[in-house]
Amino acid sequence: MVAIEPHERFPGIYWVTLEDGTRRLATISFAPGIKVYGEITVNVGGKEYRVWNPYRSKLAASILKGVKLMPIKPGSKVLYLGASTGTTVSHVSDIIGEQGIVYAVEFAPRVARELIEKVVKYRSNVIPIYQDATQPHNYSALLDEVDIIYCDIAQPQQAKPLADNADLYLADGGSIMLAIKAMSIDVTREPSETYKREMKVLEQRGFNIIDAIHLEPYDKDHAMITAKYSRKS
Ligand code: SAM
Repeated sequence: MVAIEPHERFPGIYWVTLEDGTRRLATISFAPGIKVYGEITVNVGGKEYRVWNPYRSKLAASILKGVKLMPIKPGSKVLYLGASTGTTVSHVSDIIGEQGIVYAVEFAPRVARELIEKVVKYRSNVIPIYQDATQPHNYSALLDEVDIIYCDIAQPQQAKPLADNADLYLADGGSIMLAIKAMSIDVTREPSETYKREMKVLEQRGFNIIDAIHLEPYDKDHAMITAKYSRKS
């Protein structure tokens, strides 16, 4: 028998206990009947729950690793940099629901097409932006102020483009989540140069770091940085 419980800290997120006894994260599908990445779905009480795979989504991995700040909730406005084919975007769309909106920025043509076919077509709360996230002025006509920026563009220097986007689009007091090349997994060794440099850029650009967690065993290469933003006067 499948059992559902709301997540103890994060609205819009659930625990599903599957028939085999495993307890998995899940979200309620915004587009019932449409799978995005071959995820398991279960129907309970007239709702379709999509099991959220932490090996495929750094956001799910962060939640399982106990991230302190997970600001994405029902009604949130999110700017998502590095949407790819929409694996994580689809769960963000589920969480934010009808009242929320996610602007999904992606610049690679093949994956952007897949994002449209698998996600945007079925989800009115996902607005695709086929642009380079390092040039945020180019999409100023397409979005308003957002509450959260989620950044996973898999580039060595992400803090600068993230901060450039924040200066244009993030509300004062808004939050960011940044998936970053990791600290050393071996705790006796120094954090990577990339990690140290990116944290410094964030601090210099007005972010107050809340948390930095390593995503192993789900993702061996990345940490998730969460921070709050305040505009410099
Ligand atoms: N966040 C996705 C998820 O969890 O489903 C995975 C993102 S993948 C690691 C990184 C993506 O960022 C790739 O699809 C890549 O094309 C995109 N990307 C890299 N640099 C970019 C840029 N400057 N502007 C927009 N997209 C970019």
